Amino acid sequence: MAGCREMQVGQVYMCEGCGLELQVVKACADGTAEGKASCPNCEIICCSEPLKLKQ
Ligand SMILES: [Zn+2]
Repeated sequence: MAGCREMQVGQVYMCEGCGLELQVVKACADGTAEGKASCPNCEIICCSEPLKLKQ
């Protein structure tokens, strides 16, 4: 599982269900000067499962 706060720029996350792959272009801004302070570390869901980091 990968909450959005752990997702780093350049990482690729994939769905094992359908093969979708997403690359992080900009990281979650929570905890930074530009970010909101309310991000609940959301998981990105596809095929009812959280996306997994592609190794
Ligand atoms: Zn999927």
